Amino acid sequence: SKSSDGVFPDTDSGVIGFIGAGKMATALALGFISSGLVPANRIIMSSPQSESQELKDAGINFNRDNVHVVKTSSIIIIAVKPHIVPCVVQEIAPYMKRDCHLVMSVAAGIKLEYYEKALKVGVVRVTPNTPALVGEGVSAFTLGTHCKKSVSGVVKQMLSCVGLCEEVPEKLQDTVTGISGSGPAYICIVIESLADGAVKMGMPREMALKFAAQTVKGAAKLLLETGKHPGELKDEVCSPGGTTIAAIHQLERAGLRAALMDAVETSTLKSREIG
Ligand code: NAD
Repeated sequence: SKSSDGVFPDTDSGVIGFIGAGKMATALALGFISSGLVPANRIIMSSPQSESQELKDAGINFNRDNVHVVKTSSIIIIAVKPHIVPCVVQEIAPYMKRDCHLVMSVAAGIKLEYYEKALKVGVVRVTPNTPALVGEGVSAFTLGTHCKKSVSGVVKQMLSCVGLCEEVPEKLQDTVTGISGSGPAYICIVIESLADGAVKMGMPREMALKFAAQTVKGAAKLLLETGKHPGELKDEVCSPGGTTIAAIHQLERAGLRAALMDAVETSTLKSREIG
């Protein structure tokens, strides 16, 4: 349900401006375009480096001046690395207008309170992930205290165009970074390692990567669509004395579970350290 009743902010008419034109900005912008949320000519991005070919090809407006993006956009997405945020905030603060601007920050670890003090406008903290590019992202958002309740609907509308989206209390945002923000990297290592195993056992690399990735995708889809517990789905694949249970014994011995738990914990703690 699109908001076309003049409620601010409104994705039906306003421009979405990205400050920072890197991996996360690109994934979100291209996801917004391909899902039909906004046409490319209603997206603008800024960064000190020139734009990538990918952004040029998509027809996204580009400018080196962050202030120009602020002046032309109603929704401003801050997508620079966390250590760059203070410099961007200082630069754009004089141009922020409470009735015209909504800020969405995707920077890991940077708290709403920091933005609200400096910018005095509505701010939403979002932890997205790069599969937004293909419509399979995960995003968690938290509204700042200056946001009207209606902002929640607009943010949901935007983020659900690029995948799963949940509103969470801010104290969970670092954990979201630990699981889904950083998660695609963990899973890519899992996929690459599965493929390496198959290559070791004689399968051509290209086929091995395809099989590994589709197996991860299939297992995830099976779990999501059946609603079954992962342990139950695992048990269904393990016949007594069979191949899978023998492999699982190896994974348990190698500490796969603890390694993944440690990864989520470490990323979460690192995100807390930034804030
Ligand atoms: P990136 O390095 O790919 O992109 C950063 C962009 O910021 C680049 O385009 C760079 O040119 C630009 N930039 C640098 N200084 C600038 C300035 N002063 N003004 C405007 N632009 C400037 O990084 P990324 O992976 O896209 O991450 C961006 C943010 O997104 C980070 O804060 C990160 O915590 C968050 N995030 C990333 C992911 C991810 O998977 N990559 C997931 C969740 C959140």
